[in-house]
Amino acid sequence: MTDIPLQLQQPQYRFIVLKSKSKTPIQKWTQTTNHYRYDNPYIKRHITEGGNVALILGTKDGTSYGNIIAIDFDNEEVQQKCLPKLPKTFTIKSGGKGLLHLYYKTDKTRILRITKEINGENERLVDVQGPGTIIVCPPSTHPSGKQYTVHDNSPINFIEMKQVKETLLPFHTSKLKAEQKYKTSQKTQKAKTGLLKNITDLGLTIKQIMQDLGMNINKNPTECIFHNSKGKASFSWDNSKGIYHCFGCGEKGNELTLLRKLNGK
Ligand SMILES: [Zn+2]
Repeated sequence: MTDIPLQLQQPQYRFIVLKSKSKTPIQKWTQTTNHYRYDNPYIKRHITEGGNVALILGTKDGTSYGNIIAIDFDNEEVQQKCLPKLPKTFTIKSGGKGLLHLYYKTDKTRILRITKEINGENERLVDVQGPGTIIVCPPSTHPSGKQYTVHDNSPINFIEMKQVKETLLPFHTSKLKAEQKYKTSQKTQKAKTGLLKNITDLGLTIKQIMQDLGMNINKNPTECIFHNSKGKASFSWDNSKGIYHCFGCGEKGNELTLLRKLNGK
């Protein structure tokens, strides 16, 4: 195989470039200028020269790229039990353990990590890769030297996130949270453009960042930008100390972490 699989050759999908036989990105992949369509000459040359590629999954910032999730199995027994319950879809066989990655379109993109505890260690059984993540795809080569291959060339099917959870969550027995956090906020996205200008002003304060985010700074605590609260008064901040804390969702930090959150990291 010398090209990106046909099912992934869709105009809305974007890829990033990785080092050869590696999962390490060559370029800063959060930057949209480093996102390539399958037919981009740069990515084509990169593949010809033996480089790896990864698909950008359902993103959190509104540039959906098709809102794809990937169910990424890391345990054969769990995979065998789950497969009959999941709709037939485009599937990749990983170059690592040879387990499967099932690609789906979905209604609500989420990131899940299903784990079980063995001798005090949390073992990963299956991940749902989604917003803020990527998945290595053919014609990439795994660090082990084995290629990622197409296991089922069906078109990418649709699945409700409800069904994904119903299928996978029963296997989650560790104390860790199965649902991984990511920030979904269009407010954040809108504010980003204005904020990036301000980053050069090193005199940033919490209040100023909040103002740029369109948050109500006339209240303290005020409405949190990281979660949808009913009371709209869970986010408290101290401008002189340069800290904030949301009692609703637990987000806390300083000017830098607030900026970093906004930058999607
Ligand atoms: Zn909150």
